[in-house]
Amino acid sequence: MIYMDNAATTRPYGEVMETFMNVNEAYYFNTASIHQSGRKAAQLLEASRKQIAELLGVPDYHCIFTSGATESNNLAIQSVLRRKQPYGGTVLVSELEHPSVLNVLEAMKEDDFRVNYIKTFADGTVDTDHLKEMLNDDVIFITVMAVNNITGSIQPIAEITEILKQYPKVHFHTDATQAIGKINMDYAGVDSLSLSSHKFHGMKGTGALIAKEPRTLSPIIHGGGHENNLRSGTVNLPGAVAMARALRMATEQQDVSIERVSDYNHKVRSALGNLRSVHIQPSGVPHILNVSFRGAKGEVVVNALGNRGIMVSTTSACASKLKKLNETLLAMGNARAIIEGSIRISFSSLTQEEEVDEMITALLAVHKEIGEVLK
Ligand code: PLP
Repeated sequence: MIYMDNAATTRPYGEVMETFMNVNEAYYFNTASIHQSGRKAAQLLEASRKQIAELLGVPDYHCIFTSGATESNNLAIQSVLRRKQPYGGTVLVSELEHPSVLNVLEAMKEDDFRVNYIKTFADGTVDTDHLKEMLNDDVIFITVMAVNNITGSIQPIAEITEILKQYPKVHFHTDATQAIGKINMDYAGVDSLSLSSHKFHGMKGTGALIAKEPRTLSPIIHGGGHENNLRSGTVNLPGAVAMARALRMATEQQDVSIERVSDYNHKVRSALGNLRSVHIQPSGVPHILNVSFRGAKGEVVVNALGNRGIMVSTTSACASKLKKLNETLLAMGNARAIIEGSIRISFSSLTQEEEVDEMITALLAVHKEIGEVLK
């Protein structure tokens, strides 16, 4: 099997699995217990918390462990909006966000929040002039992801933090799930960011919300008051320690990995770029490549590759069930045939060159096979 769906999830590093197992064995205690063993477990948790904030370049920020980026996005959006409701009611959001942002905001509309969408350029980046035009006294929250999960487009996070310096009331959140471990980004100006361990070779079910001022947050999961009363429930210590290790490894390997993965990206682009009816979205992070076979259905291409042992995804796996076109590709102004025929190929630091070569051969064969349907 050749795995090319790393934007969906990655294979955990062997060392990370080892850490996870070791902590389960040697530190299975509850970090909230006051006995000596509990305190030792709590110390390990604090060390991981500190390491994660440091590796992200925001050592003064607070790390709140969660079950993943979906929960982190929910925590940031729901809690900050409730806290800031006396000061305004408008949220600005890019059209490119993951459903764990867009659908939470949809739900928040029921509590009288107004949600305005920031336009997108054809290259998949947000239009910061449009953002500036929409800023007013009622805006309390802005959320723009760091890297898009469908095309890999890199968003102008530093530029947005610069713009927002004149608007101290606004909380700026970024969903950095697809950026972390892939590219360096300056998070020093954001108020909060979300991450998810399984996207950078950690374990599933572990993530974090990194917040500049945890005072601006309030819990959405209530209970025994864990995580400084911001996220109740016994903390997943093995997952948290494993996440710190995965982040360290991904950060250490990042530069080498970017170079290798960029070569893979170029290889696919030059092999497919000139084929009839093939459209490749503009590049962002080299790990994600969105390729369309105009006239075909993305699911058909995914299945044809799957039959050859190659795992990629459509950009619209869930959306196709809802008979909806992918929102990111739509926001970028793509035609229906391009959206319907799109597949997402995503590499990781573990992807091997021979695997890329084999995938290219398979893609060329599939292109030939479905030739008559292509427009
Ligand atoms: N945000 C983005 C950009 C993602 O790509 C994903 C996962 O697909 C999520 C959030 C949700 O992450 P998790 O699986 O940790 O809930």
